[in-house]
Amino acid sequence: MELELEPITLPGVEEKRPQIIAGPCSAETEEQVMTTAKQLADKGIKIFRAGIWKPRTKPGGFEGVGIDGLSWLKKVKKETGMYVATEVATAKHVYECLKAGIDVLWIGARTTANPFAVQEIADALKGVDIPVLVKNPVNPDLELWIGAMERINNSGLKRLGAIHRGFSSYDKKIYRNLPQWHIPIELRRRICDPSHIGGKRELIAPLCQQAMDLGFNGLIVETHCNPDCAWSDAPQQVTPDVLDYILNLLVIRKETQSTENLNELRKQIDECDNNLIQELAKRMRIAREIGTYKKEHNMTILQTGRYNEILEKRGSQGALCGMDAKFIKTVFEAIHEESVRQQMEIINK
Ligand code: PEP
Ligand code: MN
Repeated sequence: MELELEPITLPGVEEKRPQIIAGPCSAETEEQVMTTAKQLADKGIKIFRAGIWKPRTKPGGFEGVGIDGLSWLKKVKKETGMYVATEVATAKHVYECLKAGIDVLWIGARTTANPFAVQEIADALKGVDIPVLVKNPVNPDLELWIGAMERINNSGLKRLGAIHRGFSSYDKKIYRNLPQWHIPIELRRRICDPSHIGGKRELIAPLCQQAMDLGFNGLIVETHCNPDCAWSDAPQQVTPDVLDYILNLLVIRKETQSTENLNELRKQIDECDNNLIQELAKRMRIAREIGTYKKEHNMTILQTGRYNEILEKRGSQGALCGMDAKFIKTVFEAIHEESVRQQMEIINK
């Protein structure tokens, strides 16, 4: 199903790239919210974020200030003129936000992963025209993410955006949540959340630049007047001054700038892919012949020694050609799996 989307327009907010949403992970006190908001408004930020209901992994942590925070967001609107955004996870949250005049809603990563919760939010939003930003689910499942956007879209909402906040993984290296940039590449109206991807403030600038180079429309950056003392996500928050500095350093390249070169390069990529497929097909034909041989000689399909030898050899060959040996091994594992499948067809004929 095609999502029926419209641009996320807000009166008075210029439609430039990147669109910036900034504010603390959580609203903590009225003073923290107002101080941060005023500093951001002074830097020209137009959309303020603050979580007031915080989904925490374990009970007992700071779970947000709840409804009290809505009156602080109202005050931000009134005193700074900024639009305000917060996270909703239940129908009740939606009703409270609509009553308080919140301008933009977002659905958190843990909620997106739960179709029942998303449907409940979608039902509560039926007939309402408000921008909704859907964060990716914690697990790298593009269909689940699109499904959540479809549910909201089916309720008649068209101003939707996808927030890329990275994917949870045990294999944590430098990132808190792995970016896996290829996953959201096809989505439109993408907003990058470098704070949750990086988990550390030093990673925000490079992640913002990467998002811009990949054509993202906006950035949502956790910003706090006193980050080190934040009640949630302290290591990844920056001050409004630092945010301004990061944004000023960004290089925004026009998507159309070098389309001709890009088209030429893409043609070359298409050609490479065609050759790869031809070669793979040839390899499979040979594998089937080997399958016939094994059948005739009563041999098992999987010859473990040969398999390990191939993986090792190809890994080092790949490394010699400037590729990651682990990547090449993964490719050859997949190729081998298909060869085995094809040989099974021959044997079972
Ligand atoms: C947040 O934006 O503060 C938040 C809780 O994010 P996520 O749902 O991406 O973890
Ligand atoms: Mn956060």
